[in-house]
Amino acid sequence: MVADKHTSEEKHEEKHDVLKATQIVIHRALEKLGYPEEVYELLKEPIRMLTVKIPVRMDDGTVKIFTGYRAQHNDAVGPTKGGIRFHPNVTEREVKALSIWMSLKCGIVDLPYGGGKGGIVCDPRNMSFRELERLSRGYVRAISQIVGPTKDIPAPDVFTNSQIMAWMMDEYSRIDEFNSPGFITGKPLVLGGSHGRETATAKGVTICIREAAKKRGIDLKGARVVVQGFGNAGSFLAKFMHDAGAKVIGISDAYGALYDPNGLDIDYLLDRRDSFGTVTKLFKNTITNKELLELDCDILVPAAIENQITEENAHNIKASIVVEAANGPTTLEATEILTQRGILIVPDVLASAGGVTVSYFEWVQNNQGYYWSEEEVEEKLEKVMVKAFNNVYETAQTRRVDMRLAAYMVGVRKMAEACRFRGWI
Ligand code: NAD
Repeated sequence: MVADKHTSEEKHEEKHDVLKATQIVIHRALEKLGYPEEVYELLKEPIRMLTVKIPVRMDDGTVKIFTGYRAQHNDAVGPTKGGIRFHPNVTEREVKALSIWMSLKCGIVDLPYGGGKGGIVCDPRNMSFRELERLSRGYVRAISQIVGPTKDIPAPDVFTNSQIMAWMMDEYSRIDEFNSPGFITGKPLVLGGSHGRETATAKGVTICIREAAKKRGIDLKGARVVVQGFGNAGSFLAKFMHDAGAKVIGISDAYGALYDPNGLDIDYLLDRRDSFGTVTKLFKNTITNKELLELDCDILVPAAIENQITEENAHNIKASIVVEAANGPTTLEATEILTQRGILIVPDVLASAGGVTVSYFEWVQNNQGYYWSEEEVEEKLEKVMVKAFNNVYETAQTRRVDMRLAAYMVGVRKMAEACRFRGWI
Protein backbone atom coordinates (compact mmCIF):
# COMPACT_ATOMS: atom_id res chain seq x y z
CA MET A 1 0.00 0.00 0.00
CA VAL A 2 2.76 2.38 1.04
CA ALA A 3 4.72 1.68 -2.15
CA ASP A 4 1.60 2.32 -4.27
CA LYS A 5 0.94 5.63 -2.51
CA HIS A 6 4.53 6.71 -3.04
CA THR A 7 4.30 5.93 -6.73
CA SER A 8 1.07 7.86 -7.16
CA GLU A 9 2.57 10.85 -5.29
CA GLU A 10 5.60 10.71 -7.55
CA LYS A 11 3.34 10.51 -10.58
CA HIS A 12 1.36 13.51 -9.35
CA GLU A 13 4.57 15.49 -8.84
CA GLU A 14 5.88 14.55 -12.26
CA LYS A 15 2.59 15.51 -13.88
CA HIS A 16 2.64 18.89 -12.18
CA ASP A 17 6.34 19.50 -12.74
CA VAL A 18 6.45 23.24 -13.46
CA LEU A 19 9.86 23.06 -15.17
CA LYS A 20 8.69 20.39 -17.59
CA ALA A 21 5.50 22.34 -18.34
CA THR A 22 7.53 25.51 -18.99
CA GLN A 23 9.91 23.68 -21.31
CA ILE A 24 6.99 22.29 -23.33
CA VAL A 25 5.57 25.78 -23.96
CA ILE A 26 9.03 27.30 -24.66
CA HIS A 27 9.57 24.56 -27.25
CA ARG A 28 6.19 25.24 -28.87
CA ALA A 29 6.85 29.01 -28.89
CA LEU A 30 10.29 28.65 -30.52
CA GLU A 31 8.85 26.24 -33.08
CA LYS A 32 6.06 28.69 -33.95
CA LEU A 33 8.63 31.45 -34.34
CA GLY A 34 10.77 29.23 -36.59
CA TYR A 35 13.90 28.97 -34.43
CA PRO A 36 16.14 25.89 -34.79
CA GLU A 37 16.33 23.22 -32.08
CA GLU A 38 19.64 24.48 -30.62
CA VAL A 39 17.89 27.65 -29.44
CA TYR A 40 15.60 25.45 -27.37
CA GLU A 41 18.58 23.46 -26.09
CA LEU A 42 20.12 26.72 -24.83
CA LEU A 43 16.93 28.16 -23.33
CA LYS A 44 15.34 25.09 -21.74
CA GLU A 45 17.47 25.36 -18.57
CA PRO A 46 19.29 28.19 -16.75
CA ILE A 47 22.83 28.87 -17.95
CA ARG A 48 23.95 28.97 -14.32
CA MET A 49 22.61 27.30 -11.18
CA LEU A 50 24.24 27.60 -7.78
CA THR A 51 23.28 25.45 -4.79
CA VAL A 52 24.53 26.63 -1.42
CA LYS A 53 24.49 25.44 2.18
CA ILE A 54 23.89 28.18 4.72
CA PRO A 55 24.77 27.51 8.38
CA VAL A 56 22.63 29.64 10.70
CA ARG A 57 23.03 30.01 14.46
CA MET A 58 19.51 29.65 15.82
CA ASP A 59 18.28 31.50 18.90
CA ASP A 60 18.56 28.34 21.06
CA GLY A 61 22.30 28.10 20.29
CA THR A 62 22.11 25.21 17.83
CA VAL A 63 23.30 25.52 14.22
CA LYS A 64 20.88 24.68 11.44
CA ILE A 65 22.05 24.14 7.86
CA PHE A 66 19.71 25.56 5.20
CA THR A 67 19.80 24.85 1.46
CA GLY A 68 19.56 27.75 -0.97
CA TYR A 69 19.56 28.16 -4.74
CA ARG A 70 20.21 30.90 -7.27
CA ALA A 71 19.36 30.27 -10.91
CA GLN A 72 20.36 32.55 -13.78
CA HIS A 73 18.41 31.62 -16.83
CA ASN A 74 19.92 33.69 -19.62
CA ASP A 75 22.01 36.87 -19.64
CA ALA A 76 22.15 37.58 -23.38
CA VAL A 77 19.81 40.60 -23.05
CA GLY A 78 21.37 41.98 -19.86
CA PRO A 79 21.92 41.15 -16.18
CA THR A 80 19.56 38.57 -14.74
CA LYS A 81 16.78 39.64 -12.39
CA GLY A 82 14.32 37.87 -10.12
CA GLY A 83 13.05 37.35 -6.61
CA ILE A 84 14.11 35.20 -3.68
CA ARG A 85 11.55 32.84 -2.21
CA PHE A 86 11.63 31.56 1.37
CA HIS A 87 9.39 28.49 1.53
CA PRO A 88 9.56 24.91 2.85
CA ASN A 89 8.60 23.53 -0.58
CA VAL A 90 11.31 25.30 -2.59
CA THR A 91 13.05 22.86 -4.98
CA GLU A 92 15.83 23.18 -7.52
CA ARG A 93 13.42 22.48 -10.39
CA GLU A 94 10.95 25.10 -9.16
CA VAL A 95 13.71 27.74 -8.92
CA LYS A 96 14.84 26.84 -12.44
CA ALA A 97 11.29 27.21 -13.79
CA LEU A 98 10.83 30.49 -11.93
CA SER A 99 14.04 31.86 -13.49
CA ILE A 100 12.76 30.98 -16.98
CA TRP A 101 9.45 32.72 -16.23
CA MET A 102 11.42 35.80 -15.20
CA SER A 103 13.20 35.81 -18.58
CA LEU A 104 9.83 35.59 -20.31
CA LYS A 105 8.36 38.39 -18.20
CA CYS A 106 11.33 40.66 -18.95
CA GLY A 107 10.87 39.92 -22.66
CA ILE A 108 7.12 40.61 -22.53
CA VAL A 109 7.47 43.99 -20.83
CA ASP A 110 10.66 44.69 -22.80
CA LEU A 111 13.17 45.22 -19.98
CA PRO A 112 16.95 45.04 -20.52
CA TYR A 113 17.25 41.93 -18.33
CA GLY A 114 17.35 38.16 -18.44
CA GLY A 115 15.62 36.08 -15.78
CA GLY A 116 16.97 34.87 -12.46
CA LYS A 117 15.47 33.42 -9.30
CA GLY A 118 16.52 32.34 -5.85
CA GLY A 119 15.06 30.27 -3.09
CA ILE A 120 15.82 28.95 0.37
CA VAL A 121 14.18 25.86 1.81
CA CYS A 122 12.89 27.20 5.12
CA ASP A 123 9.70 28.19 6.89
CA PRO A 124 10.02 31.85 7.92
CA ARG A 125 6.70 31.59 9.79
CA ASN A 126 8.54 29.49 12.39
CA MET A 127 11.70 31.62 12.59
CA SER A 128 12.47 34.63 14.75
CA PHE A 129 13.32 38.06 13.37
CA ARG A 130 17.05 37.64 14.16
CA GLU A 131 17.18 34.08 12.76
CA LEU A 132 15.71 35.42 9.52
CA GLU A 133 18.32 38.18 9.46
CA ARG A 134 21.17 35.68 9.90
CA LEU A 135 19.71 33.44 7.18
CA SER A 136 19.29 36.38 4.75
CA ARG A 137 22.86 37.59 5.32
CA GLY A 138 24.25 34.05 5.07
CA TYR A 139 22.51 33.51 1.74
CA VAL A 140 24.01 36.71 0.31
CA ARG A 141 27.51 35.69 1.46
CA ALA A 142 27.02 32.30 -0.17
CA ILE A 143 25.89 33.64 -3.57
CA SER A 144 27.87 36.92 -3.59
CA GLN A 145 30.26 35.86 -6.34
CA ILE A 146 27.57 35.47 -8.98
CA VAL A 147 25.27 38.39 -8.09
CA GLY A 148 25.66 42.18 -8.23
CA PRO A 149 24.07 45.33 -9.70
CA THR A 150 25.41 44.56 -13.20
CA LYS A 151 25.24 40.75 -12.97
CA ASP A 152 22.13 39.49 -11.22
CA ILE A 153 19.73 41.62 -9.20
CA PRO A 154 17.45 39.87 -6.65
CA ALA A 155 14.06 41.05 -5.32
CA PRO A 156 11.28 39.83 -2.98
CA ASP A 157 9.03 36.85 -3.70
CA VAL A 158 6.90 34.54 -1.55
CA PHE A 159 7.56 35.12 2.19
CA THR A 160 10.32 37.70 1.65
CA ASN A 161 9.83 41.44 2.11
CA SER A 162 11.51 44.85 2.17
CA GLN A 163 13.17 44.17 5.55
CA ILE A 164 14.83 41.05 4.14
CA MET A 165 15.90 43.04 1.06
CA ALA A 166 17.43 45.68 3.37
CA TRP A 167 19.51 43.07 5.28
CA MET A 168 20.64 41.55 1.99
CA MET A 169 21.58 44.95 0.53
CA ASP A 170 23.53 45.78 3.69
CA GLU A 171 25.41 42.46 3.60
CA TYR A 172 26.26 42.85 -0.08
CA SER A 173 27.41 46.45 0.49
CA ARG A 174 29.83 45.20 3.18
CA ILE A 175 31.23 42.52 0.87
CA ASP A 176 31.43 44.98 -2.04
CA GLU A 177 32.92 47.66 0.26
CA PHE A 178 30.59 50.10 -1.44
CA ASN A 179 27.04 51.29 -0.83
CA SER A 180 25.21 49.16 -3.41
CA PRO A 181 21.47 49.96 -3.45
CA GLY A 182 21.24 48.67 -7.05
CA PHE A 183 22.20 45.17 -5.89
CA ILE A 184 18.62 44.35 -4.92
CA THR A 185 15.13 45.80 -5.45
CA GLY A 186 12.05 45.89 -3.25
CA LYS A 187 13.99 47.81 -0.60
CA PRO A 188 12.40 50.19 1.93
CA LEU A 189 12.05 53.75 0.57
CA VAL A 190 14.74 55.11 2.93
CA LEU A 191 17.30 52.70 1.43
CA GLY A 192 16.62 53.55 -2.21
CA GLY A 193 13.38 51.68 -2.73
CA SER A 194 10.93 52.95 -5.32
CA HIS A 195 7.53 54.47 -4.75
CA GLY A 196 4.92 52.00 -5.92
CA ARG A 197 7.12 48.86 -5.67
CA GLU A 198 5.07 47.25 -2.90
CA THR A 199 1.85 47.47 -4.89
CA ALA A 200 3.40 47.08 -8.37
CA THR A 201 2.48 43.46 -9.00
CA ALA A 202 -1.12 44.08 -7.96
CA LYS A 203 -1.26 47.28 -10.05
CA GLY A 204 -0.01 45.37 -13.09
CA VAL A 205 -2.59 42.62 -12.52
CA THR A 206 -5.30 45.28 -12.14
CA ILE A 207 -4.34 46.82 -15.50
CA CYS A 208 -4.49 43.36 -17.14
CA ILE A 209 -7.91 42.70 -15.57
CA ARG A 210 -9.20 46.05 -16.85
CA GLU A 211 -7.91 45.36 -20.39
CA ALA A 212 -9.20 41.77 -20.39
CA ALA A 213 -12.60 42.91 -19.11
CA LYS A 214 -12.80 45.42 -21.99
CA LYS A 215 -12.15 42.61 -24.47
CA ARG A 216 -14.93 40.55 -22.89
CA GLY A 217 -17.35 43.47 -22.50
CA ILE A 218 -17.41 43.11 -18.71
CA ASP A 219 -17.97 46.27 -16.67
CA LEU A 220 -15.65 46.22 -13.67
CA LYS A 221 -18.25 48.11 -11.64
CA GLY A 222 -20.19 45.35 -9.94
CA ALA A 223 -18.13 42.54 -11.47
CA ARG A 224 -17.73 39.59 -9.08
CA VAL A 225 -14.07 38.90 -8.33
CA VAL A 226 -12.46 35.98 -6.47
CA VAL A 227 -8.83 36.19 -5.34
CA GLN A 228 -6.86 33.18 -4.10
CA GLY A 229 -4.04 34.29 -1.77
CA PHE A 230 -4.02 37.39 0.42
CA GLY A 231 -0.31 38.21 0.48
CA ASN A 232 1.52 40.99 -1.31
CA ALA A 233 -0.04 40.29 -4.71
CA GLY A 234 -3.53 39.13 -3.66
CA SER A 235 -4.36 41.59 -0.89
CA PHE A 236 -3.48 44.77 -2.80
CA LEU A 237 -5.22 43.40 -5.85
CA ALA A 238 -8.39 42.79 -3.83
CA LYS A 239 -8.14 46.38 -2.61
CA PHE A 240 -7.67 47.81 -6.13
CA MET A 241 -10.59 45.76 -7.45
CA HIS A 242 -12.76 46.91 -4.53
CA ASP A 243 -11.74 50.55 -5.21
CA ALA A 244 -12.60 50.09 -8.90
CA GLY A 245 -16.17 49.23 -7.89
CA ALA A 246 -15.89 45.46 -8.31
CA LYS A 247 -17.41 43.12 -5.73
CA VAL A 248 -14.68 40.94 -4.20
CA ILE A 249 -16.80 37.98 -3.10
CA GLY A 250 -14.00 35.56 -2.14
CA ILE A 251 -10.45 35.64 -0.84
CA SER A 252 -8.22 32.97 0.70
CA ASP A 253 -4.92 32.17 2.37
CA ALA A 254 -3.06 28.93 3.08
CA TYR A 255 -5.56 27.99 5.82
CA GLY A 256 -8.91 28.50 4.09
CA ALA A 257 -11.14 30.94 2.27
CA LEU A 258 -13.80 33.58 2.98
CA TYR A 259 -16.91 34.01 0.86
CA ASP A 260 -19.65 36.63 0.87
CA PRO A 261 -21.88 36.95 -2.21
CA ASN A 262 -22.55 40.58 -1.25
CA GLY A 263 -18.85 41.46 -1.24
CA LEU A 264 -16.24 41.20 1.52
CA ASP A 265 -15.02 44.13 3.61
CA ILE A 266 -11.57 44.33 2.01
CA ASP A 267 -10.31 47.29 4.07
CA TYR A 268 -11.07 45.40 7.27
CA LEU A 269 -9.35 42.23 5.99
CA LEU A 270 -6.30 44.20 4.85
CA ASP A 271 -6.06 45.74 8.28
CA ARG A 272 -6.25 42.35 10.00
CA ARG A 273 -4.00 40.20 7.78
CA ASP A 274 -0.53 39.37 9.09
CA SER A 275 2.77 39.85 7.25
CA PHE A 276 2.47 36.34 5.75
CA GLY A 277 -0.91 37.11 4.18
CA THR A 278 -2.90 35.14 6.77
CA VAL A 279 -6.35 36.37 7.74
CA THR A 280 -8.87 33.50 7.55
CA LYS A 281 -7.80 32.09 10.95
CA LEU A 282 -9.78 34.94 12.53
CA PHE A 283 -13.06 33.59 11.12
CA LYS A 284 -15.21 30.55 11.91
CA ASN A 285 -17.24 30.32 8.70
CA THR A 286 -14.67 29.51 6.10
CA ILE A 287 -14.74 27.50 2.88
CA THR A 288 -11.85 25.56 1.34
CA ASN A 289 -9.47 26.85 -1.33
CA LYS A 290 -10.95 24.23 -3.67
CA GLU A 291 -14.46 25.62 -3.14
CA LEU A 292 -13.18 29.16 -3.58
CA LEU A 293 -11.75 28.45 -7.03
CA GLU A 294 -15.08 27.03 -8.19
CA LEU A 295 -17.23 29.95 -6.98
CA ASP A 296 -19.63 31.57 -9.43
CA CYS A 297 -17.84 34.78 -10.42
CA ASP A 298 -16.76 36.89 -13.41
CA ILE A 299 -13.04 37.19 -12.71
CA LEU A 300 -10.85 34.65 -10.93
CA VAL A 301 -7.35 35.63 -9.80
CA PRO A 302 -5.09 32.88 -8.47
CA ALA A 303 -2.50 34.86 -6.45
CA ALA A 304 -1.00 32.20 -4.18
CA ILE A 305 0.94 29.18 -5.40
CA GLU A 306 1.46 26.81 -8.31
CA ASN A 307 -0.81 24.11 -9.77
CA GLN A 308 -4.14 25.31 -8.38
CA ILE A 309 -6.20 24.95 -11.56
CA THR A 310 -5.67 21.47 -12.97
CA GLU A 311 -7.58 19.06 -15.20
CA GLU A 312 -9.43 18.00 -12.03
CA ASN A 313 -11.17 21.35 -11.44
CA ALA A 314 -10.79 23.23 -14.76
CA HIS A 315 -14.24 22.05 -15.89
CA ASN A 316 -15.78 23.54 -12.74
CA ILE A 317 -14.27 27.02 -13.04
CA LYS A 318 -17.15 29.46 -13.55
CA ALA A 319 -15.25 32.71 -14.19
CA SER A 320 -15.15 34.18 -17.71
CA ILE A 321 -11.66 35.58 -17.16
CA VAL A 322 -8.78 33.98 -15.24
CA VAL A 323 -5.91 36.36 -14.52
CA GLU A 324 -2.83 34.67 -13.09
CA ALA A 325 -1.19 36.87 -10.49
CA ALA A 326 0.69 33.85 -9.10
CA ASN A 327 3.43 32.08 -10.97
CA GLY A 328 2.29 28.81 -12.54
CA PRO A 329 -1.18 28.46 -10.98
CA THR A 330 -2.69 26.68 -14.02
CA THR A 331 -1.39 23.44 -15.53
CA LEU A 332 -1.07 23.01 -19.30
CA GLU A 333 -3.97 20.54 -19.36
CA ALA A 334 -6.13 23.05 -17.49
CA THR A 335 -5.03 25.86 -19.85
CA GLU A 336 -6.33 23.79 -22.75
CA ILE A 337 -9.64 23.05 -21.01
CA LEU A 338 -10.22 26.68 -20.01
CA THR A 339 -9.32 27.95 -23.50
CA GLN A 340 -11.66 25.40 -25.11
CA ARG A 341 -14.42 26.55 -22.76
CA GLY A 342 -13.93 30.11 -24.03
CA ILE A 343 -12.45 31.41 -20.78
CA LEU A 344 -9.92 34.19 -21.36
CA ILE A 345 -6.65 33.44 -19.53
CA VAL A 346 -4.19 36.22 -18.86
CA PRO A 347 -1.06 34.14 -18.17
CA ASP A 348 1.32 34.67 -15.25
CA VAL A 349 4.28 35.80 -17.36
CA LEU A 350 2.17 38.74 -18.54
CA ALA A 351 -0.20 39.42 -15.64
CA SER A 352 2.39 39.51 -12.86
CA ALA A 353 5.07 41.42 -14.78
CA GLY A 354 4.23 44.69 -12.97
CA GLY A 355 6.51 43.65 -10.08
CA VAL A 356 9.64 43.24 -12.16
CA THR A 357 8.77 46.38 -14.16
CA VAL A 358 8.80 48.58 -11.05
CA SER A 359 11.85 46.67 -9.78
CA TYR A 360 13.52 47.80 -13.01
CA PHE A 361 12.37 51.38 -12.30
CA GLU A 362 13.90 51.07 -8.82
CA TRP A 363 17.23 49.86 -10.27
CA VAL A 364 17.23 52.71 -12.82
CA GLN A 365 16.60 55.23 -10.03
CA ASN A 366 19.42 53.69 -7.94
CA ASN A 367 21.80 53.86 -10.91
CA GLN A 368 21.03 57.50 -11.65
CA GLY A 369 20.67 58.56 -8.01
CA TYR A 370 17.53 60.51 -8.89
CA TYR A 371 14.13 59.41 -7.62
CA TRP A 372 10.66 59.57 -9.14
CA SER A 373 7.29 60.41 -7.62
CA GLU A 374 4.60 57.75 -7.19
CA GLU A 375 2.64 59.35 -10.06
CA GLU A 376 5.62 59.06 -12.41
CA VAL A 377 6.09 55.39 -11.51
CA GLU A 378 2.40 54.63 -12.00
CA GLU A 379 2.23 56.44 -15.31
CA LYS A 380 5.24 54.53 -16.65
CA LEU A 381 3.89 51.20 -15.35
CA GLU A 382 0.51 51.83 -16.98
CA LYS A 383 2.13 52.40 -20.38
CA VAL A 384 4.34 49.30 -20.13
CA MET A 385 1.53 46.97 -19.04
CA VAL A 386 -1.06 48.16 -21.58
CA LYS A 387 1.46 47.78 -24.41
CA ALA A 388 2.46 44.30 -23.20
CA PHE A 389 -1.17 43.17 -22.81
CA ASN A 390 -2.11 44.33 -26.30
CA ASN A 391 0.99 42.79 -27.82
CA VAL A 392 0.22 39.37 -26.32
CA TYR A 393 -3.53 39.60 -27.09
CA GLU A 394 -2.88 40.52 -30.73
CA THR A 395 -0.29 37.75 -31.08
CA ALA A 396 -2.87 35.27 -29.78
CA GLN A 397 -5.45 36.54 -32.28
CA THR A 398 -3.23 36.76 -35.35
CA ARG A 399 -1.29 33.53 -34.73
CA ARG A 400 -4.43 31.69 -33.54
CA VAL A 401 -2.81 30.43 -30.37
CA ASP A 402 -3.87 30.56 -26.73
CA MET A 403 -2.80 33.50 -24.55
CA ARG A 404 -0.13 31.45 -22.76
CA LEU A 405 1.60 30.38 -25.96
CA ALA A 406 1.27 33.94 -27.32
CA ALA A 407 2.91 35.33 -24.18
CA TYR A 408 5.75 32.82 -24.45
CA MET A 409 6.22 33.74 -28.13
CA VAL A 410 6.48 37.43 -27.26
CA GLY A 411 8.67 36.72 -24.22
CA VAL A 412 11.16 34.37 -25.81
CA ARG A 413 11.76 36.30 -29.04
CA LYS A 414 13.98 39.08 -27.64
CA MET A 415 16.14 36.58 -25.75
CA ALA A 416 16.55 34.33 -28.78
CA GLU A 417 17.45 37.32 -30.96
CA ALA A 418 19.99 38.56 -28.38
CA CYS A 419 21.62 35.10 -28.33
CA ARG A 420 21.73 35.13 -32.15
CA PHE A 421 23.28 38.61 -32.40
CA ARG A 422 25.89 37.68 -29.79
CA GLY A 423 26.83 34.73 -31.98
CA TRP A 424 25.88 32.12 -29.35
CA ILE A 425 23.63 30.22 -31.73
P1 NAD B 1 3.00 36.25 -0.18
O1 NAD B 1 3.91 35.36 0.56
O2 NAD B 1 2.94 37.69 0.20
O3 NAD B 1 1.50 35.66 -0.09
C1 NAD B 1 1.15 34.36 -0.46
C2 NAD B 1 -0.31 34.13 -0.13
O4 NAD B 1 -0.66 32.83 -0.60
C3 NAD B 1 -0.60 34.16 1.36
O5 NAD B 1 -1.89 34.71 1.59
C4 NAD B 1 -0.61 32.69 1.75
O6 NAD B 1 -1.38 32.39 2.89
C5 NAD B 1 -1.23 32.11 0.50
N1 NAD B 1 -0.93 30.66 0.36
C6 NAD B 1 0.23 30.03 0.64
N2 NAD B 1 0.08 28.71 0.42
C7 NAD B 1 -1.21 28.52 0.01
C8 NAD B 1 -1.98 27.40 -0.34
N3 NAD B 1 -1.46 26.17 -0.30
N4 NAD B 1 -3.26 27.59 -0.73
C9 NAD B 1 -3.79 28.83 -0.76
N5 NAD B 1 -3.12 29.93 -0.42
C10 NAD B 1 -1.85 29.77 -0.04
O7 NAD B 1 3.38 36.05 -1.71
P2 NAD B 1 3.14 37.07 -2.91
O8 NAD B 1 4.36 37.91 -3.05
O9 NAD B 1 1.79 37.67 -2.81
O10 NAD B 1 3.18 36.02 -4.13
C11 NAD B 1 2.04 35.25 -4.49
C12 NAD B 1 2.25 34.71 -5.89
O11 NAD B 1 2.47 35.81 -6.78
C13 NAD B 1 3.48 33.81 -6.05
O12 NAD B 1 3.22 32.84 -7.02
C14 NAD B 1 4.55 34.76 -6.53
O13 NAD B 1 5.61 34.10 -7.23
C15 NAD B 1 3.71 35.64 -7.45
N6 NAD B 1 4.33 36.92 -7.73
C16 NAD B 1 4.56 37.83 -6.73
C17 NAD B 1 5.17 39.03 -7.05
C18 NAD B 1 5.42 40.08 -6.01
O14 NAD B 1 5.93 41.15 -6.37
N7 NAD B 1 5.05 39.88 -4.77
C19 NAD B 1 5.56 39.29 -8.37
C20 NAD B 1 5.29 38.35 -9.36
C21 NAD B 1 4.68 37.16 -9.02
